[in-house]
Amino acid sequence: MKPLTKDFRHLSRPEKINQLKEHGWIKEQSEQILLNNSEIDKELLENLIENVIGQGTLPVGVLPEIIVNGKSYAVPMMVEEPSVVAAASYGAKLFNKSGGLKIVKSDNIKLGQIVFDDVADTKQLSKDIFALESEIHQVADQVYPSILKRGGGYQKIEIDEFPEESMLSLKVHIDTRDAMGANIINTILEGISHYLEEQLSHTNILMSILSNYSTTSVISIQGKIAVSDLEKSNVSGEDVAHRMERASVLAHIDPYRAVTHNKGVMNGISSVVLASGNDTRSLEAGAHAYASKDGQYRSLTTWKYDREEQYLVGTIELPLTLGIIGGSIDLLPISKVTLDLLSVESAQELAHIVAAVGLAQNFSACRALVSEGIQHGHMNLHYKSLAIKIGAKGTEIHLITEALKNMDKPNLETAQALLYEMRN
Ligand code: NDP
Repeated sequence: MKPLTKDFRHLSRPEKINQLKEHGWIKEQSEQILLNNSEIDKELLENLIENVIGQGTLPVGVLPEIIVNGKSYAVPMMVEEPSVVAAASYGAKLFNKSGGLKIVKSDNIKLGQIVFDDVADTKQLSKDIFALESEIHQVADQVYPSILKRGGGYQKIEIDEFPEESMLSLKVHIDTRDAMGANIINTILEGISHYLEEQLSHTNILMSILSNYSTTSVISIQGKIAVSDLEKSNVSGEDVAHRMERASVLAHIDPYRAVTHNKGVMNGISSVVLASGNDTRSLEAGAHAYASKDGQYRSLTTWKYDREEQYLVGTIELPLTLGIIGGSIDLLPISKVTLDLLSVESAQELAHIVAAVGLAQNFSACRALVSEGIQHGHMNLHYKSLAIKIGAKGTEIHLITEALKNMDKPNLETAQALLYEMRN
């Protein structure tokens, strides 16, 4: 695959698609979906969810290059917010200059819970369950033999006791390979539940369901940016690095900042996850729970200024449970294109890219915040939306956007006045 050209963002949409194809990033089938058929076909549409009345669409943009563990990726991002793709692409470009991002931690085990209620003695029940561990393992293998053949399946059990509420949660660790695994886990859990109901007397199983708090599938990615690349406007690179470090401290200690900081991280993460057809709600719930793992909501990323080596070092850590197969992933046209473009070999590889984009996204937002301010970049894209909103067409969009940038009070009214002037 050839890298995308430096002028990629200036090409027209068909030219961009053509370059992705010519440079070997997408197959003919993806090219056709992008050019002609980005909609979900009628048959699939009417059967995918309930009470279907139509379909919504969002733009899909491409982050041209992000290097993770030495491999280059062009990453599709599906999002309605202007500036997200541009910001992630900028962050990725600076990481790439220093060799790209590296995987620090990569776990891939999913969790399910079988919850017992009205437990008179949680310690005793715990002992009784552990005594049946090898049988539980056998039941899990029998219930879902195909995942075993794929090299996954049951791993181990763990127990959380809640004696004050007479409850006990049996946590089952399962490897679901390249699937997100919700249905696989739930099927295995129900099999184990039936077995335990038969084996243990007086049990009241309240529920059996996967846990979206997947502390056993934590991904951590790290990257560094040369301080000389951080210089911006009138602020020196050293100053930006120092201010980024302080912004990171703030996002660690102040939940008011941490939530906004993590919203920026999720701009990158959710956009890639949505484009891939994965379940955004499950990973968002898990990510925010992980941000509160020590009792206070904190940032999912950290930024440290390495004064000796003159690098800004960024790290992201969060749980990610993604699939490259299963659910709606292999059904939706855009997720087919996403997987073709990313050409990942495993769900884990997709998770590494997703985390890396989250870090690149967060870098750009924080860098802008501590130097020229976030509105500078945002407003330029906002002016473009404003021009489209008032009905500007073709070259008018560019002319009005540029004119608004130089105005004292760029708003809807001034944009309308500009368009009127231009046309009369
Ligand atoms: P599926 O039910 O589609 O199961 C995955 C399928 O992929 C299986 O049929 C499996 O085949 C097949 N498969 C093929 N190759 C592989 C491979 N290499 N590794 C793993 N599986 C493979 O999807 P999931 O179990 O992943 O469930 C995801 C769906 O569940 C999502 O739509 C999600 O939104 C939803 N969901 C989420 C919940 C939550 O987050 N709380 C709760 C309930 C549902 P085989 O069976 O032959 O092994």
